[in-house]
Amino acid sequence: ATFGSLSERLTDTLKNLRTKGKLSASDVDGTVREIRRALLDADVAFDVVKQFTNTVRERALGDDVNRALNPAQQVVQIVNEELVNILGGEQRRLQFAKRPPTIIMLAGLQGAGKTTLAGKLAKWLVKDGHTPVLVAADLQRPNAVNQLQVVGGQAGVPVFAPEPGNGVGNPVKVAKDAVKYAETKLHDVVIVDTAGRLGVDRDMMKQAADIRKAIDPDEVLFVIDAMIGQDAVATAKAFQEGVDFTGVVLSKLDGDARGGAALSVASVTGRPIIFASTGESLDDFEPFYPDRMASRILDLGDILTLIEQAQEAFDEDEAREMAEKFATDTFTLEDFLKQMQQLKNMGSIKKMMGMLPGMGQMKQQLENFDESELVRTEAIIQSMTPAERRNSKLLNGSRRLRIARGSGTTVTEVNALVNRFEQAAKMMKTVAKGGVPQMPGMGPI
Ligand code: GDP
Repeated sequence: ATFGSLSERLTDTLKNLRTKGKLSASDVDGTVREIRRALLDADVAFDVVKQFTNTVRERALGDDVNRALNPAQQVVQIVNEELVNILGGEQRRLQFAKRPPTIIMLAGLQGAGKTTLAGKLAKWLVKDGHTPVLVAADLQRPNAVNQLQVVGGQAGVPVFAPEPGNGVGNPVKVAKDAVKYAETKLHDVVIVDTAGRLGVDRDMMKQAADIRKAIDPDEVLFVIDAMIGQDAVATAKAFQEGVDFTGVVLSKLDGDARGGAALSVASVTGRPIIFASTGESLDDFEPFYPDRMASRILDLGDILTLIEQAQEAFDEDEAREMAEKFATDTFTLEDFLKQMQQLKNMGSIKKMMGMLPGMGQMKQQLENFDESELVRTEAIIQSMTPAERRNSKLLNGSRRLRIARGSGTTVTEVNALVNRFEQAAKMMKTVAKGGVPQMPGMGPI
């Protein structure tokens, strides 16, 4: 999805801060450099990247971070805050006129998703108790009026279209008539779809500007296809000069765009992103929240809290040693036990796992997690000889029976633990190598 690889890279960069205590200037520089590269590779506009990384760097090297008990956490927070800022800061809601009808005009290149958006917006407004009407002021494309009628039908709202012979070919007149029509028919919102061209074009821009002048809309929404990458900035600037707009709608966020357009357009134009479109169906549409989008990009889950707890509970060297063991397949039952004892220091494992980014699908399994199992697991491992703990392959039937007796458990329980350990070791090895773990019925650790 959009932001996929950007998200991955930013998350990785920030995760690397996790085991650090104090941050040196070169730690900060290294992190900022990685962030800069990730943003540029995602097609974010150069000026936006420059400003973003300068601010992050300056703040990360500042006294607040230096004096903080948890510098890594502070840096993650700064990156998050600045990401929210370039996405526009506070959420900006659609503005309604004090006296209806509220007039919303859509502008953008052909194929940006204006007509689809008109339907999405209408459907969303209807759900909210409004009575919108769609207006077909795109008279360039032969099929445009028809397409709007289809979309209107799907949304269950009427479409105002020029009657043959009456204003056909004159979108300004159509738009003006539509507003009058809305007033008499008590439609409280008028959504005007305008013509687009494949590239920015003077006639199209003039037509849009004329419509704007004639109907004085409460909102002019510039619809931009998130897939257009580097061209986004130039297109947005051209529309800002040519028609000007009050807000932005990002469309096709469901595609595999690298996300640069989305991350550039608000700061380059100074106009807020109000909605996001995420698919072809009329329901694939939502108000845009800069803070939620930032968290989604950083895939933080609650990584901030995780960092904090990890810093408290884990010795840095020990953590590195564990990672090394996972990667080299020398992780033993003894390590398993040591790790479990550390995890107990972290309070509920359930809570910790829930905070790990990307662990959403495990939540259900975690719900069934019984921490008292830990005590039994501990007893089983403690009943093993040191050699057995280091090499689970030694555990034949008679040894397992002895261990079960020694720990007051059953052979079945011993077997289950050994299986889980082997699965966990395998899974951690995959994770350590950067893969995605498969977790078949992981059960209690
Ligand atoms: P217009 O020329 O600006 O009116 O653009 P359209 O509304 O006709 O959309 C152009 C194409 O993009 C159509 O095939 C739409 O179905 C598709 N489309 C619009 N919005 C989205 C979106 O958010 N996601 C995806 N995947 N496709 C979209």
